Amino acid sequence: MTRTTLRTHRCGALRAADVGQRVRLGGWVHRRRDLGGIVFLDLRDRDGLVQVAVGPGWASPDLVFRAQTVGTEAVVVVEGEVVARPPAMRNSELATGDVEVHATAFQVVGPAETPAIPVARGKGDELPAEELRLKHRHLDLRRPELQANLIMRHRLAQRARRVLSELDFLEIETPILTKPTPEGARDYLVPSRVHPGEFYALPQSPQIYKQLLMVAGFDRYFQLSRCFRDEDLRYDRQPEFTQIDIEASFVTQDDVLAIVEAVLVALWDEAGHRIERPFTRLSWRDAMERYGTDKPDLRYDFEIKDFSRWAKTDGKIVGEAVRQKLEGKDARLRGIVVPGGAAFSRKDIDRLSQEVKQVGGWGPAWVKRQGEQVSGSIAKDADVETLGALGVRDGDLALLTVGADQVTSPALDKVRREVIRRLAPAPKAAHALCWVVDFPLFEPDPETGKPVFAHHPFTSPHPDDMDKLDSDPFACRALHYDAVYNGNELGSGSIRITDPAIQRTVFRHLGLSPAEVDARFGFLLTALAAGAPPHGGFAIGFDRTAMLLVGAGSMRDVIAFPKTTAARALFEGAPAPARPEDLAALHIKVVPPHE
Ligand code: ASP
Repeated sequence: MTRTTLRTHRCGALRAADVGQRVRLGGWVHRRRDLGGIVFLDLRDRDGLVQVAVGPGWASPDLVFRAQTVGTEAVVVVEGEVVARPPAMRNSELATGDVEVHATAFQVVGPAETPAIPVARGKGDELPAEELRLKHRHLDLRRPELQANLIMRHRLAQRARRVLSELDFLEIETPILTKPTPEGARDYLVPSRVHPGEFYALPQSPQIYKQLLMVAGFDRYFQLSRCFRDEDLRYDRQPEFTQIDIEASFVTQDDVLAIVEAVLVALWDEAGHRIERPFTRLSWRDAMERYGTDKPDLRYDFEIKDFSRWAKTDGKIVGEAVRQKLEGKDARLRGIVVPGGAAFSRKDIDRLSQEVKQVGGWGPAWVKRQGEQVSGSIAKDADVETLGALGVRDGDLALLTVGADQVTSPALDKVRREVIRRLAPAPKAAHALCWVVDFPLFEPDPETGKPVFAHHPFTSPHPDDMDKLDSDPFACRALHYDAVYNGNELGSGSIRITDPAIQRTVFRHLGLSPAEVDARFGFLLTALAAGAPPHGGFAIGFDRTAMLLVGAGSMRDVIAFPKTTAARALFEGAPAPARPEDLAALHIKVVPPHE
């Protein structure tokens, strides 16, 4: 029901069945055309556009004059009759294109200054620069594309709520002013005025709270929760974002995956796509081996292969492997065969080598097979038989790199993505969802080599690897899983540690002293010792999911008021310097950064 005292219909809702009705509409003047004394206005609201005609046959001269002089983007209220358009004038591109409204009353209720950026665009017109659009977000948000995106986002949120409620989950809010909840980023801190020198942290996720809710017996929780992570600017991430956050008790990993699958199937359905369950499952090790990434795009083949069986022992490539081994590196020879890739140009191959160099990789060495001819940077290392034995057929290109897996995996992931981009092969499926499971519990810190948590420190070690927790922490797998869609991570989750002693061991590996653990996480440990059910959960990155489902190019296109990549809100102007009196009340002194 959208009828109000001021209007009878939404503009975009009128159809042929409404012909003959007297209506009152309110909307924004999208475009105006003056054709021989009749003024045509496209009136817009969130349902779409309708053509309003103001002409001498039915409108007074004063009314025609007002329509002639109204500016675009002004808000008007129009009264009139819905009339069928003559067949030649119908517009099949517009949902309201069979009708128009002959205005008999017309009032400008919200005059508009000349808009700083246009809302209406002709076909092929480029969008204004994003910075400008973000600065004038109130106008940018009027664009039908962004309206459609936010309407779909709303529908997805409601569908998630519905499906989770049907699965007996309770929506429970958790605090925003809280204690740090580590998820691998920095915290946003909020100074307390009443407790000088003390700070709240904005939650990086509701992780600890949802676990406390399980300890408290709520059993199944969800929340569309806002999370805050102060990341370095080089990551194109939003400092605040929304998750569909889920936690359940008395569950195994399989149970959680089934619950999340049910939610994802429903979300895809809401966006008009059918996806099959159960999703493919890959171990982290397998994903890294075959695709070089924990976010594999399974719409395409081009799997990474181990070429260690390369026959020629005296060539460039084996030489490089030997050199790296002498340096103490655990080098392997891995690569991708690109069927039909012999057609790649030197320029294509140069681009691939840039991708590899970006991640510090070697090569790639490349070889093409065309009939009996072998060419490429390692042509001398190869002959038709060697290539044949390695699965390189006539017309194929093989791209090879040598090095430790930590380098060759990201390098070949990049090569694979670039090959797919360049060849644009038909995908095997439009929607490839998969689970990546059995992640490592710890990762080496790139600088110090010490263990840092791969996700967050509350993830349970894999029961089969419990004995490695102390003896070989890096070999210890976690009951952690990610959902991946067409090469994009949709979210992560895990089964949690419920034994306070194991939780303490994990903290110890992370280098936290018992005193630090008690100060930062004592409340969680106390709760875990108070009768904690086995539990686990998941968080679906809602902004990214919405972006993928509406086909937007950026998460900023599905967030009403996003931040720029430099973490600024350009419309309202945040962050901004605080007033000295506010800082004084917070007992804060700003020390300007050194030049
Ligand atoms: N707290 C995790 C995150 O925000 C999700 C989870 O483990 O449930 O990524």
